[in-house]
Amino acid sequence: MTSIAVRNPRTGEFDYEIENMDAGQTGAAISAARAAQHAWAQGGLPHRTAALLAWADELEKNGAAIVEALSVDTARHRISHEELGAVIHFIHGFCQHAPDVLATPFRKLDAHPDVVFKITYAAYPVVGVISPWNFPLVLSFIDAIPALVAGAAVVIKPSEVTPRFIEPLRRSIAAIPALANIITLVTGGAETGAAIVAQADAVVFTGSVPTGQKIATAAAQAFIPAFLELGGKDAAVVLAGSDVKRAATSILRSALYNSGQVCYAIERVYAHDSLYDALVEELRTQAGAMRRSLAAGDGGHYGPMIFERQAQIIDAQLQDALDKGASIVLGGKSDAVDGAVWIDPTIVTNVDHTMTIMTEETFGPIVPVMRFTDDLEAERLMNDSNFGLSGAVFGPDTHTAGDFATKMEAGGVSINDTELPRVMMFDGEKTAFKKSGMGGSRYGATSIMRYVRKRALLANEGEVASLDKLAETTGA
Ligand code: NAD
Repeated sequence: MTSIAVRNPRTGEFDYEIENMDAGQTGAAISAARAAQHAWAQGGLPHRTAALLAWADELEKNGAAIVEALSVDTARHRISHEELGAVIHFIHGFCQHAPDVLATPFRKLDAHPDVVFKITYAAYPVVGVISPWNFPLVLSFIDAIPALVAGAAVVIKPSEVTPRFIEPLRRSIAAIPALANIITLVTGGAETGAAIVAQADAVVFTGSVPTGQKIATAAAQAFIPAFLELGGKDAAVVLAGSDVKRAATSILRSALYNSGQVCYAIERVYAHDSLYDALVEELRTQAGAMRRSLAAGDGGHYGPMIFERQAQIIDAQLQDALDKGASIVLGGKSDAVDGAVWIDPTIVTNVDHTMTIMTEETFGPIVPVMRFTDDLEAERLMNDSNFGLSGAVFGPDTHTAGDFATKMEAGGVSINDTELPRVMMFDGEKTAFKKSGMGGSRYGATSIMRYVRKRALLANEGEVASLDKLAETTGA
């Protein structure tokens, strides 16, 4: 058995380890899940929602150990509580919406008066879920819950960077006997993930574009669907006439949330010439008032970076920008203190698209701001990206900003605010554009349908067609 050492982001010490499960162990977990899934699916939706809601109650009552484990791995407290709350919310929401989404009444077929039909749904037996480190719990379950509701069993491999929550979470699942082998968490790194793709019946992956491309290739080889939720480089465009204070606050809230370690963080800003200087000054002032959080409940706004290697990527992007003529208005490179790696809110100007800070995912609290003089230029710049996850447009009113927003090549655009898709979980759908993802919307209650195959049942209640039909159709 091999193991993987886990780093504590506040101390820099490797003080925990997980088993690096091999293909055989992962395959055994998948086989057990497949064996259990039949009864889970056949038991019907009320059986499934009852088990999941019982689990939500259990998480509500006994979730403290999960939150504590998340807090250690991610160096943040409030967001760890929010993660648990979000998973409980997903369970309630999907259970509530599932009866409508999965309803399948018999209907008359318009094209044939004697034929009635209905569509029945057959879940993929085992859906593999592979998740990243920035929201370890939420991103392990945001897609797993609709898959479970649909009737699939799930085998989840959380990131090896932030795996401490797995043990307490396994205990919470064990408290609900109906979930045995229906929700399975496996531990490990890339090889364990690859074993899931090779052996599951469908896979849903949240992570980086390069890993997503590997998973898409492996899934094609295994001939299974892969739903990919990948990286972003979200743009905020601040049109002439925008409320500068409002834009600055919204941009910073998005850029600095979770120290910028968010796929939909604003990572590049385009400001109209008429307000560029005022916006930069407002960003500098507001960001300058943010403080490090050194301990739980100290009122600080951001924690140390979760993943040390990410800080190196950010430093390299900042250096590349500086080498090409950028200026740092606030903040700067990473700062290691007692094992923790900090990156303070950083505002960068004099940037352009020759710099990686404007083109590659940064995943840190960095706000590069670029000037534009007309809307056509802004449109060209915001769409000059390999990513298309989401973005934001600020303007003098909803209509003007909304008009411009329809030109953004991205799956969710907030108008006069940022991060608004987050509040839409069960109400609407959005898909990633370009390299930010593939495979239908994870948003909307209809995301349950990603995890089923559709079987049409058709009954002829009239006469069967005579054999003369053969003669007619072959023309003999
Ligand atoms: P990553 O791609 O390095 O790893 C993600 C997961 O994939 C981990 O569990 C890892 O062990 C596993 N993995 C690695 N190689 C694999 C392989 N060959 N086969 C199968 N599994 C493999 O991503 P990360 O660094 O953990 O997370 C950060 C990335 O995730 C960023 O790019 C971020 O934008 C993205 N992300 C996207 C969303 C979204 O909803 N679109 C949300 C959060 C994070």
